[in-house]
Amino acid sequence: MAHIIDGKRIAAEIRETLRQEVQWLREQRGLVPGLAVIIVGDDPASKVYVRMKRQACENAGIASFHHELPGDVSEGALLDLIHRLNADPAVHGILTQLPLPGHISERAVLETISPFKDVDGFHPYNVGLLSIGKPLFSPCTPFGVMELLRVEGIDPKSRHVVVVGRSNIVGKPMALLMLAADATVTVCHSRSMDLPGLVRSADILVAAVGKPRMIPGEWIREGAVVIDVGTNRLADGSLCGDVDFASAAEKASHITPSPGGVGPMTIAMLLQNTVKSLRRTHGL
Ligand code: NDP
Repeated sequence: MAHIIDGKRIAAEIRETLRQEVQWLREQRGLVPGLAVIIVGDDPASKVYVRMKRQACENAGIASFHHELPGDVSEGALLDLIHRLNADPAVHGILTQLPLPGHISERAVLETISPFKDVDGFHPYNVGLLSIGKPLFSPCTPFGVMELLRVEGIDPKSRHVVVVGRSNIVGKPMALLMLAADATVTVCHSRSMDLPGLVRSADILVAAVGKPRMIPGEWIREGAVVIDVGTNRLADGSLCGDVDFASAAEKASHITPSPGGVGPMTIAMLLQNTVKSLRRTHGL
């Protein structure tokens, strides 16, 4: 039976360390990190994520600036708001909750956020830095995966990492972070041939597909590390990952549950990036 990687506990420890760091910055330097979160429309899942981010900021002593815009807001008005936040010295991080309504260009929005406040790491400038192995802000979910591995003492160096999924927010940056950590990386997607065979060749598997339990335990190599980024809501309202946890846990050496694995790390890394941005601004 695999060791279960407790992302909730590890994220809570990181958040506690950050809380102490934020307290020190406030008391010793008079500085308060600030994160601006923009939500457009009323997608229920987005609202839940935004509420969790605000709560996490509050617990860590980070100021959160909440901007809730109607679903029919114009792209121009949203970009104006981002320009104002770019210029606001109390704001060290800006994020726009995705997805955006169809009439707003996601690209225009992500490119308007200052790369130096882009704590999600989605601006092309930051994507470029990541791709040359010199990240300023790494995207929070894959960054959280790297942290989980580090805390668990799992070094990806020289191991074969198979990433299933090639999205800009998870799969691709995951592959780049693994490459930077000297792993040998294979990225799979919906057009890949023989997915079971590719998954079986993984020393470390990262599943980021968005299909409930699509990877069964029989695809997992004995002793592999299994990181399940997938967060899928089932018809009964419960959540599950992309990996069939019960059968995969029989084969893996380490496995993350979903929920309770990678998810909590994403918010912890967002807070970490916000504090990093403040430190960078003030040369600390
Ligand atoms: P996307 O839908 O953007 O990307 C899914 C990827 O999976 C695509 O690259 C797609 O391939 C690939 N894919 C789809 N079907 C298959 C298949 N049958 N075989 C192989 N590959 C396939 O999703 P995201 O990257 O945004 O998210 C992935 C999962 O991670 C979701 O469950 C999401 O909820 C979760 N997530 C969790 C986060 C967290 O824990 N904090 C944060 C972000 C995401 P192609 O490119 O060819 O279409």
